[in-house]
Amino acid sequence: MGAVIAADYLVVGAGASGMAFVDALITHANVHVVMVDRRHGPGGHWLDAYPFVRLHQASDFYGVASTLLGEGRLQDSGPEAGLHERATAPEICAYYQRVLQRMVGSGRVEFHSGCEYLGGRAFVSRVSGRRFEVTETARLVITDYLGPDIPATTPPPFGIGAGARVIPVNDLVKVTEAPSRYVIVGSGKTATDACIWLLSKDVDPDAICWVRSREPWMINRAALQPEPEVFYRSAGDIMAAAVVATSPDDLFLRLEAAGVMLRIDRSVTPTMAKTPTIGVWEVDKLRTIEDVVRLGHLEHVDPGRLQFAAGDFRIPADSLVVHCAASGLKYAPVVPIWQPQAITLQPVRAGFPCFGAAITGYVEATRDDDAEKNRLCLPSPLPDTPASWARMQVMGGRASTAFALESDIRAWASRTTLNPARIPPEKADDPGVRAAAARFRAAVGPGLERMAQLAGMVDVAGPAAA
Ligand SMILES: Cc1cc2nc3c(=O)[nH]c(=O)nc-3n(C[C@H](O)[C@H](O)[C@H](O)COP(=O)(O)OP(=O)(O)OC[C@H]3O[C@@H](n4cnc5c(N)ncnc54)[C@H](O)[C@@H]3O)c2cc1C
Repeated sequence: MGAVIAADYLVVGAGASGMAFVDALITHANVHVVMVDRRHGPGGHWLDAYPFVRLHQASDFYGVASTLLGEGRLQDSGPEAGLHERATAPEICAYYQRVLQRMVGSGRVEFHSGCEYLGGRAFVSRVSGRRFEVTETARLVITDYLGPDIPATTPPPFGIGAGARVIPVNDLVKVTEAPSRYVIVGSGKTATDACIWLLSKDVDPDAICWVRSREPWMINRAALQPEPEVFYRSAGDIMAAAVVATSPDDLFLRLEAAGVMLRIDRSVTPTMAKTPTIGVWEVDKLRTIEDVVRLGHLEHVDPGRLQFAAGDFRIPADSLVVHCAASGLKYAPVVPIWQPQAITLQPVRAGFPCFGAAITGYVEATRDDDAEKNRLCLPSPLPDTPASWARMQVMGGRASTAFALESDIRAWASRTTLNPARIPPEKADDPGVRAAAARFRAAVGPGLERMAQLAGMVDVAGPAAA
């Protein structure tokens, strides 16, 4: 047996979810928390991020409820001038470091970095080998149930033959000699970031071959800003489109027409809807890459050859293959957040994982009964396809209704910028905001009812809050 630590909570993971949960918990309850992470500091996957990554959404939506990430300012130059700032990975890591210092300084939190949780409330330092146990009284909090897989820490999902040149996306910045072809493997945000970065370095679009096993739908960043009028206009567009949509694909095509969704190739109907946000300027650049390989999942790389189940694809022998194909989001089944063995963090509204973790921390701090907490915080899944995106909207809408009926939670949610649906008091009487919110409220009931049908859900959703 190792050293025994007395605590009220044992939180496994100090990524965005763990940090948002603990911040809200200790702000509203006098408790002692032990946080454990195998990484060397707080910030989770951001500590291993590729150097040119930024948040894909505005910084306001990310982080912990007590502390704004960034300064809430608009970008004043570049292709996104006028849109809200988006933090880089170093900015995010520095932010979490500051938040952690404050937590530890409060005396309510102790953080054990470089430690592996072993189960049974025990963990071991990966550096010293020292073992710790946390008292049975501590409630276990699992924060990485849906934590993303990233290329830096996940091997490529394809075989690599002798002599083939394959790097994770993180190593793109270390290239010292230009290959005649960059082969980008992946369809999601990481792959789009890699392509944009190469193009920004004056790599000829024809020197990029892009293996996209699926075509992605992405949200127009300009349509998802921390501005209530913008948010409610888009939310209203989504519900209005849903009411008349004939299928999940038709819903997305209508959202494209409304300027909410974007796709790279207008001649292909996307099947993937993880829906990160993207700038119109980025999509314009991505469209200059014409060598797109749509042969399904890459199975094996040899010098000069990509192998797919559907056949081989020739590439120059010196091609540099860039692994951007980690699965990113996880699709574990939705489970009750509060169970006897653990609190399992998941989104509590459609998307916005930091908000979900923070509201869970608030509810944990302010309620005693687990059944009541589960009634107030309904988990919602992450999206993968147009149909599962509709399902996320329905379940997220129900979750929003459940917590919004409680006045203290509504008041708490209206104070944090992590909540995309909040209307700050100074904007409450703005005519544009009022009109957009009213339009949304009129459409949300029928919109979600139709989305439940489109998603193939057996029961039909009732009206919901934003
Ligand atoms: C490139 C990228 C960009 C993104 N941009 C955005 C964005 O703009 N907006 C947005 O809302 N979302 C964004 N997301 C999604 C969002 O960041 C993630 O869902 C969220 O940050 C994940 O945080 P997490 O705490 O759930 O997981 P993680 O960051 O993976 O943290 C979990 C932590 O738990 C630790 N851990 C797990 N098991 C153990 C164990 N047994 N012992 C010890 N430690 C353990 C891990 O070391 C890890 O540090 C992005 C994701 C990626 C990959």
